[in-house]
Amino acid sequence: MIVDVHTHVWECPCHIGEKFIADARRTAGESYKDISVDLDKHWEAMQAVDRAVVLGFRARHVGVLVPNEYVAGYVALHPERLIGFCSVDPQDPDAIEQLDDAVQRLKLRGLKMGPIYQNVAPTDSRFRRIMGRAEELGIPVLIHQGATFCENVSLEIANPLQLQPLALEFPRLRMVIAHLGHPWIDETLVLIRKNPNVYSDISALYYRPWQFYNALVSAMEYGVLDRLLLGSDYPFTTPEATMAALRQVNSITEGTKLPRISEAKIEAMIHRDTLDLLGIG
Ligand SMILES: [Zn+2]
Repeated sequence: MIVDVHTHVWECPCHIGEKFIADARRTAGESYKDISVDLDKHWEAMQAVDRAVVLGFRARHVGVLVPNEYVAGYVALHPERLIGFCSVDPQDPDAIEQLDDAVQRLKLRGLKMGPIYQNVAPTDSRFRRIMGRAEELGIPVLIHQGATFCENVSLEIANPLQLQPLALEFPRLRMVIAHLGHPWIDETLVLIRKNPNVYSDISALYYRPWQFYNALVSAMEYGVLDRLLLGSDYPFTTPEATMAALRQVNSITEGTKLPRISEAKIEAMIHRDTLDLLGIG
């Protein structure tokens, strides 16, 4: 089964603030493409996979507020293929109530967090109590722990090593670090190597081909290629383009003696039983 563990839906500009879009545009320069999502186009793109996780996103600090109801309403149209994850902002005093409601009433099956966007460190008690509740609820958490293009954020709280205390405090909690925690990729790899319930997705990396290739070589050398999950970060790219890039990752080595990533391991990553690993199969 092929699972895209990382896709977004939102309405622009209703759910996404102007500053977020302006920062995306400024940092992408000429390669900027519209990040608004048309749900029909999302659905069309997901025909390339068997299952897709659709993420909520609540981060008032950067002006992103995708309602959990919106995610639940969309995935309910295609329950055979789409799996909804909610999001809660740790700055909300009622974040725990929001999480309980999203899981129990809206039937969302996981949680998306983004400390750098939410401006709350993973070690902060407001963040930790949400992780504790996720562990009690038995739901996986996908965490954007890595850099971003947004201007008014703290890179200091974005390093994947900030998740280490959570992995130790909540050993039953299944976590997925988004984007291999770029640019702290080796930190992510050693974290997932030692903590059996921590995984990482490879989304939104292939358009830096040298970094992407090196990330997979590092993962191979640390012996954690089997802990990496397929993800696209739609609408920034599609699962189809991501799978094509994975299958071509060795093209960079042609005519050289650089190490090659095992094609069999790449196919295994694409076909990984991600939902079983995350306890939502
Ligand atoms: Zn994303």
